[in-house]
Amino acid sequence: MSTKGLLIVLSGPSGVGKGTVCSALRSRVPDLIYSVSATTRQPRLGEVDGINYFFKGRDQFLSMIENDQLLEYAEYVGNYYGTPRDFVEETIANGKDIILEIEVQGALKVKEKFPEGIFIFLTPPSLDELKDRIVGRGTETQAVIDHRMSVAVDELDLIKHYDYAVVNDEINQACKRIESIIIAEHCKVRAQ
Ligand code: 5GP
Repeated sequence: MSTKGLLIVLSGPSGVGKGTVCSALRSRVPDLIYSVSATTRQPRLGEVDGINYFFKGRDQFLSMIENDQLLEYAEYVGNYYGTPRDFVEETIANGKDIILEIEVQGALKVKEKFPEGIFIFLTPPSLDELKDRIVGRGTETQAVIDHRMSVAVDELDLIKHYDYAVVNDEINQACKRIESIIIAEHCKVRAQ
């Protein structure tokens, strides 16, 4: 059996509840490590640098790209988002599981580098429900909501590249499904 940790990628459209599911998973699965992304987006009310994101200026972010410090990055609705590489690689090398909560383009880039990763697509029960959630968050302008919805429609088409699809109809159920996937992956007999 491999002693490396699992690299788990939780992806899916904006507003589907990836963040909420991830936070719930972290309290239910305390050994699971969470990858904190870098972004050029402005912090939302209550977001803390180093906890929710590493908030960076555009030039700082570009130099992280230049210095190959990101495992993947994507430009999403006018801002950059990226996964710091060293933390992910060190965590799995130390035999700990890590979860990345990222959008779809970035997830597909991780898949090119880590095909052995576990790729989970979180889906909304419906597109109407997704829009209600983005609007209900109350943090985005109408233009951003429209843009996020049109990206979401394109993203749903990419579900075929994932290992698992989990419907986020109810948070505890979605967490249970993901916990079951993690348990099953640990029981898997892998080629060395
Ligand atoms: P938000 O602005 O709502 O926090 O995030 C917007 C989108 O960027 C979400 O779909 C979120 O999952 C994604 N995201 C967050 N961090 C990363 C990252 O490091 N890389 C990529 N590719 N997407 C990310």
